[in-house]
Amino acid sequence: MRSRIIYGPILSKRLGRSLGVDAIKVAGRKKNCNFDCVYCQLGSVDYRVNAPETVEGAVTVDEVVESLRQYHRNIDDLDYITFSGTCEPTLNLGLGEIIRGVREISDKPICVITNSSLMGRADVRSNLAEADLVVATLVSGNEDTFRAIHRPVDGVSFEDIVKGLQMFSSEAKKTKLSIEVMLMDSTNDYPVNCTEQEIKGLVDVLKTIDPDEIEILTVSRPPAEDFIVPVADPRLKEIAHIFDEEFGRDRVRFVLKGLKKDRSKMKHENVEEEVYDLILRRPCTFDQICASLGIESAELQSVIGKLLSLKSIICVASDNGNYYKVA
Ligand code: SF4
Repeated sequence: MRSRIIYGPILSKRLGRSLGVDAIKVAGRKKNCNFDCVYCQLGSVDYRVNAPETVEGAVTVDEVVESLRQYHRNIDDLDYITFSGTCEPTLNLGLGEIIRGVREISDKPICVITNSSLMGRADVRSNLAEADLVVATLVSGNEDTFRAIHRPVDGVSFEDIVKGLQMFSSEAKKTKLSIEVMLMDSTNDYPVNCTEQEIKGLVDVLKTIDPDEIEILTVSRPPAEDFIVPVADPRLKEIAHIFDEEFGRDRVRFVLKGLKKDRSKMKHENVEEEVYDLILRRPCTFDQICASLGIESAELQSVIGKLLSLKSIICVASDNGNYYKVA
């Protein structure tokens, strides 16, 4: 089944209803990233992108603008246009130009979700400064834990990432910087970031970055490695208390389960493709697909049945329910 550059809309507590844009597309690849995170909802892969200069399938401003022009017409209630999807968007060095192109045809706020890997590069920071909001990942203040969780390609420097985030926070005054902290636990001794020492290290490094906002969440979708599990609620509450004390309630967001939002008013052209495109970027439960795309249960039931019988998607059970993901 083909997939498009534009997908969604996706519902999230942070961004409301956002239309996703993939900045890199390579047919047949489930992700184009320089990390292979243990918690990645897209699964694990045996290849990683080396550097922006070697990236294949970087989309152009014309491709994005044309796709958006066609898709955008269908959506009445969009909150953001968001670059994320199946790739690390900063690997596309045309990102700044693409964002400027999108602004010419849309007045919606623009967000980029990045793994922060290239924050040490001035050209990447300059591209990101074109966005209204940058959501940048930081999982640890400790380099060993950072490497264990993200499993980055050779050449990614933890020190450069922290320095780059510090510079972006102080330089890009028109762009809001939100640091996303994905917390996780493990069923074995794998290094994770929810221990007392890890939280202290994170707080210390976040103070040096001084972001506009800190978003704390834990694993909810089926992760790449089955030994990675969500942090238990009592520990999450303790961590929430520490972050509130250190940074103030106004700056810290806790993304918890149970998003409730009205259904999308999106009009549909090809429901089967829209469902597939959404699941390709983000494994979803049945209810999440209904709410994101504004589809009635009966209609979705038949689409899911067809995609399952074609073996285009599979159903994976997790603690938070049954998730559909691309086979
Ligand atoms: S979670 Fe994001 S940064 Fe990590 S491997 Fe998956 S796509 Fe890349």
